[in-house]
Order: sequence, then structure tokens, then C-alpha cells
Amino acid sequence: MKAIRLREGKERSLQRRHPWVFEGSIAKGKADAGETVRIEAHDGRFLAWGAYSPASSIRVRAWSFDEAERIDAAFFARRVQQAVALRQRMAVASDAVRLVHGEADGLPGLVVDRYADCLSAQFLFTGSERWKAVIVDALLAATGLSRLYERSDVGVRALEGLPEQRGWLRGAGDTQLTIREHGWQLQVDVAQGHKTGYYLDQRDNRQHFAQAVRHYGCAEVLNCYSYTGGFSLAALAGGAARVSSVDSSAPALELACRLVQLNGFDASRHQAVDADVNAHLRECLAQGRRFDAIVLDPPKFAPTAAQVERASRAYKDINRLALKLLRSGGLLFSFSCSGGIGPELFHKIVAGAGIDAGVDALILQRLAAACDHPTTLQFPESDYLTGLALLVR
Ligand code: SAH
Repeated sequence: MKAIRLREGKERSLQRRHPWVFEGSIAKGKADAGETVRIEAHDGRFLAWGAYSPASSIRVRAWSFDEAERIDAAFFARRVQQAVALRQRMAVASDAVRLVHGEADGLPGLVVDRYADCLSAQFLFTGSERWKAVIVDALLAATGLSRLYERSDVGVRALEGLPEQRGWLRGAGDTQLTIREHGWQLQVDVAQGHKTGYYLDQRDNRQHFAQAVRHYGCAEVLNCYSYTGGFSLAALAGGAARVSSVDSSAPALELACRLVQLNGFDASRHQAVDADVNAHLRECLAQGRRFDAIVLDPPKFAPTAAQVERASRAYKDINRLALKLLRSGGLLFSFSCSGGIGPELFHKIVAGAGIDAGVDALILQRLAAACDHPTTLQFPESDYLTGLALLVR
């Protein structure tokens, strides 16, 4: 077994069970991509078992902090079973569930979502890549399913020196699946959809939105960055008279329109707008339009910490425009999925937008990812989605 020796003082984060070792913390030691290594303090004390990633600045990610634990097929079977059992206890209101949420489930660099009878997985790290076949077997055994599609077609793989990959790892067949979320039917394509197919992290927030639209009697709703219209269905279910879905992806909007009909809503209540959201918000303002509820669920404006400042300005801008477009008594559900922008900073950004818009609002609810996307005490990095439900005075 190869050993990775840390510099003096660099053992602290592992002792606090944070699973990452950065390149600069290592005094000596090397291994092959994904190979299991013993991570040691400067004096040789055991800290963790991990997997080595020669190309990444996160040079090692820990599998286990227990010296007696062996990193083998049984280890992955245990971790996968624990993750799946946890989701069963959570009793998620859908047959589409995040089963493995990377580090938060003790499986760094692994994301697995279940869509009805099909699993969709991302292997984002040399360690999970190396154990891929073992992990896939464990997932199928733990769920009793027979199909798993790989969606490792993401840019972060390059940071690990891994090529993008996509396709069936087990089973085959139609990649288009119908799932149920709350009372709604949704279609998800595990091959073509964003991420592993859909944004399951927003499940609870779509439900909160439906309830708020109904409770506050919102008639006209603008769903910005709608993707396939999840929040639009929520608004329709909440009784909205007119809902616009705005997105720059034509295929996503086409599916949004199909889903409106599939769920039995009158198509005349829904409009798809293929546009840049920022430009569309400005156009609505210029036209003097007003709404009773607006959703802002943009893509990650700050993919890395270096982009936080620019992203903050972009978030502020769309929030300012949206607040100006709301009638008094209107609702804003506003989100950020940028890891570098925590709830406090996001609050500050939206508060600044309110000042600039000359609009005062109450925080009805602080929003986060659904509980099948857990954050642990030791690994705050998995807490990326933050949001505010606001009521304009
Ligand atoms: N709210 C959605 C998820 C949104 S994901 C849900 O609940 O499922 C972000 C979406 O923003 C993607 O669909 C992407 O196509 C869209 N998008 C990205 N940049 C955009 C822009 N400048 N204008 C409009 N849409 C954009």
C-alpha cells in the first residue's frame, strides 16, 4: 500500500473528517490514478484511506477514517447500501431520488440519481472512476434495478484528467422516462437532460412554490430559467391563471409545453418564451408588464470561487429587475446554485437588489436543496443550493 505523507500541521482538516487533501498539503508520496493510499500525518500517524488523483489539485479524497476498514468491493457495497437505506427512511415524495450525493454519503466524486426504474450516475473523480464496475454492481444490488446510464459528460472530469463519457453501463432501452413528483408527471431523458436528467434538488421548492401561489392567489407567474417547466407546473397546480416559462433552451421549452398538457392543464394558460432571461426581464419592464410571482433559478453564475464577485453582480441584477416587475404583495422565489455563494452572501445580494429596486420584502422562507441532497457537518461544500422566498410589501 502506498503512503501519502502530509506536511506538518496539514492533518487538521482530515482529523475534522473533511475528506479532501490539496496538492500543497502533501510532503511526499505518489500513486496511480484512483489507487488507494494510506494518508499519514507528518509523523506517520494514520489519518485516512483515500484515492489518489495525480492531475487534480484535490490530490487525494478520503474513503474512510477508520484504519481497520479495507477499501474493497464490500466497502463500496456497504456505503451504497447505507445511502440507499437513508433515502428509504426519508420517504421522498417522488420515484426520482438522489441516492448518492458524493462526499456527503461517504462516496467522494459519485452522484447517482434514480429515475423510476433507471439509475443515472456521474463519476467525477479518479477514485470513483477506478471503482466504477464495483460501484455499479453495488448500486444495482442495493436497488434491485437493472439499468444504469452514465452521465460523466461534465467539464469537471477534465480537472481529474478524465475524458467525458456517456452511455449505458448496464441494461439498455429507452432513455426517456416518466417520473412522478408530488402529484405531477414529468418526463426526463437520462441521455439528453441536464445533469443526470433533471433538477431533483428543487423538488421541495417546487412544492413550496405551488402552495405559495395558491395561498397568495397569484394569477400571473413568470418562471425564469424554467428548464422543462418544473416551477411552471407548480404554478399551474397552485391555480395561476397565466404562466410564462423563460429559458434559452428550445428543447427544454418544447418539453415544458408537452408536460403542461400531459398534466391536464389547459395549454392556453402557459406560454414558452425562448429568450435570455436578463433581456426578457428588461423587455417586460419596458412594456410595463407586472407579475404576481416570479421564479429566478439561474445556472451556476459562479462555478469557482474566483467568479464570486462577478456572479454577485449578475445575481443582483436579475433580482433587481424581478423585484421591480412584481406587483405589491407579489412573490419572488430566488435561487443560487453557486457553491461559493452561501446563504448569507445571497441574502446580502438580494437585499442590495431590493434597495436598488426601491422594493421592500419579507422573507417568507429560506430555501435549500431537498433532503436527499444532504450536507454533512464536516463537508459544507455539498451545500450549494440556497434560496429565498420573498413577499413584496
Ligand atoms: N428551474 C429549473 C432548473 C433550471 S436550470 C427546474 O426546476 O427544473 C437553469 C436553466 O437556465 C437551464 O434550463 C438553462 O437552459 C437556462 N439558462 C441558462 N442561461 C440562460 C439565460 N441567459 N437565459 C435563459 N435561460 C438560461
